[in-house]
Amino acid sequence: MRTLLCVLLSLFFVSLGIASEKIYIDIDDLSYADETFHIHEGENIWIQSNVIHSEPRGFYIYESDIVKSHEGAYEKKWRCPYCNSHWPIGTPCQNPNCPSKYK
Ligand SMILES: [Zn+2]
Repeated sequence: MRTLLCVLLSLFFVSLGIASEKIYIDIDDLSYADETFHIHEGENIWIQSNVIHSEPRGFYIYESDIVKSHEGAYEKKWRCPYCNSHWPIGTPCQNPNCPSKYK
């Protein structure tokens, strides 16, 4: 009986953990542009979220908040270092006012 209780309790906590899985975001890895939050994953790869939550511990999103393509993959962007605009991977900066255009 005690074992069953333990199993039930751990199952409960596991499902609780999945339901409330938070992805914490360092403020340095967060930028807001074009009415979307961009979150730096490293190597100048940025994922997007339309919402950011906060609590005393910091900012976070849920996995379900991440903007995804029709195939379910995360929409990934790169950020132009000259104008800080975000573009799909493989697409050059399209900003007509980008300083990189005047080099
Ligand atoms: Zn640019």
